[in-house]
Formats: sequence, C-alpha cells, structure tokens
Amino acid sequence: MIGLLKSMAVTMKHALDGKKFTVKYPEEEPEVSPRFRGVHKYSQERCIWCRQCENVCPNDTIQIVMDDQRNGEQYNLHIGQCIYCRLCEEVCPTDAILLTQNFEFTADGKHEFAYNKEQLKNVPWYKEIDPLEAREPDRSAWVGEGDGEIDYQ
Ligand code: SF4
Ligand code: SF4
Repeated sequence: MIGLLKSMAVTMKHALDGKKFTVKYPEEEPEVSPRFRGVHKYSQERCIWCRQCENVCPNDTIQIVMDDQRNGEQYNLHIGQCIYCRLCEEVCPTDAILLTQNFEFTADGKHEFAYNKEQLKNVPWYKEIDPLEAREPDRSAWVGEGDGEIDYQ
C-alpha cells in the first residue's frame, strides 16, 4: 500500500510540474534527439563506389551494381527494410551517405520503398530533406566540399 501511494505521488508530481514529453502529432512536430537515425540520403557526386556501405549493411538495404571496369552503374536503396543501424554512414569514407532526422514516410508495404538513384531524386519526402541541415557529418570527409552544391539525392 505504501508503495502504491509513493508511486502515485511520483506520478502526480510529474503530472503537475508542467513538463510534457508528448506532442499532438502531426499538428505539432516532435523534437527528435540529435542522435536520431532516420532515412538516409545519398550523394552520387561524393560516392566513389567503394561498396563499403553495401558490404557493411546487415540486411541488403543497399545494392550497388558495377560495370566490368568497376564503375558504379546503379545505387539501389530498399529503405523499407533498413533498420537504421547507421553502419553505412559510419563506413562511408566520403560522407556520401547521411542519416537524416526524417521519419515521416508511409506506404502500404515495404516493397514501395525500393528506389534506384534516379527514383530517389523524385521521392517528395526524400527530395525535400537537406541532409547537411538535418545533421552534420560527424567526421571529416576525405573529399573536400568542392565548388557548387552537393547533390544529395
Ligand atoms: S542504416 Fe544500417 S540497415 Fe540501413 S542501409 Fe545503412 S547499414 Fe543498411
Ligand atoms: S561507402 Fe560511400 S563512397 Fe562507398 S559506395 Fe557507399 S556511398 Fe559510395
């Protein structure tokens, strides 16, 4: 009984202290943690086709197709099966992949989230994300910023 009263007192204390931890989504946008891992963006401009992201991905979310000369031809992303472990971002030597803080995308099935790099450019919820605003890469890239805008797809 004492335990019950104590727990009720704790509940009431937090209920009345004015702090809130939930928001009325989607009217209110929740603040996600800076460490939140959402859908990732890819920059063909930065990619050196080293395939490290593909190799490290535990569930084949990333598929890269090369030609005979080992030039990159296709970058396919099956976002519907991504577990947001962030290993691809960690291993990418050029910051060509960044996990953004976007979590707002829906579909009827995960098969609808399979894109090649051309399709990725036209996914509205994906196109509008500026990954460099959403999240700074947490280490230096091997490749400099260069001239012009970085084309994250
Ligand atoms: S976050 Fe993890 S599961 Fe998703 S694409 Fe990257 S390595 Fe694969
Ligand atoms: S690890 Fe980075 S540079 Fe290498 S293939 Fe993947 S996206 Fe491209």
